[in-house]
Amino acid sequence: MVLTFFYRLFFLFLLIFISSPLTPLRAQGLEPTVSILPQPLDVGSPARVVISNFPLDVVISGRFDDKPIFFFPHNSSLIGLFGADIALAQGTYPLTLFWEGGKKSFEVVVKAKDYGVRDIKVPQSKVELSPEDLARSKKESDLTKAALAIKSPEKLWSGEFIEPVNSRVNSSFGRLTRLNGKLNSRPHAGADYLAPTGTPVKAPADGLVLLTGDHFFAGKSVYLDHGQGLISMYFHLSEIKVEEGLKIKKGQILGLTGQSGRVTGAHLHYGIYINGARIDPLVFRRLTSQLTASPPKPTSASKGL
Ligand SMILES: [Zn+2]
Repeated sequence: MVLTFFYRLFFLFLLIFISSPLTPLRAQGLEPTVSILPQPLDVGSPARVVISNFPLDVVISGRFDDKPIFFFPHNSSLIGLFGADIALAQGTYPLTLFWEGGKKSFEVVVKAKDYGVRDIKVPQSKVELSPEDLARSKKESDLTKAALAIKSPEKLWSGEFIEPVNSRVNSSFGRLTRLNGKLNSRPHAGADYLAPTGTPVKAPADGLVLLTGDHFFAGKSVYLDHGQGLISMYFHLSEIKVEEGLKIKKGQILGLTGQSGRVTGAHLHYGIYINGARIDPLVFRRLTSQLTASPPKPTSASKGL
């Protein structure tokens, strides 16, 4: 009888021990090894936080410039992507990591970059908007902002981002625009590719169609959600070939290039946001190729730079 009681007690303790949350205990007192690359970081550029020597199953999150950083496992490390928004002022910003039982802050140096100025001429009605156009663009901007705030927790993409069209980049990211002779204080938040109307636009990576529309400035546009706050966008299309909610594979045709919206000619505007930070899609593609290069082949990784 007494023995049975002790057996019961033993199993009860065993059950409590097994079902107890072990993760915080394991994470407590642990110091992750953290590297933030690159440093300093150019305004308008993406960066990565690499965490090693830390249990991969411990939930870790981060924050930079009031925006979240999500992590995903990569080889034996955890990687989180973030960006210095194109409008971020030069300076030193804190980047903070949080995990159960711990918190640590780092400094990120953000450096100004001169992206240059471009001259663009468009009909004056597309600069000084009529009350109807103003109301329309405001409504569309609110719709877009709501879509951009979506942060699917799961990483949907893998491997290197491919080019959305196989043509020359015409206007680089970050330039200020002199619109009909007047300097616009908002920098160009994407890369423009010269492409004749009807050129197929490919998804650079797997994702979900977040939003499609025919907007005043962006024209016919497609927004892709790649998960964890990574969103890509394609503007001025002549035709949209996908629907909202559709799962997309890398290389799948999203639409055809055109000159819808506020444009001077046929081209593709390609933008990438990381949790709201507007970053250079070309630099982002290089970052994804660096991630794809596996550690056993260091030579191919350095070639990719
Ligand atoms: Zn553009």
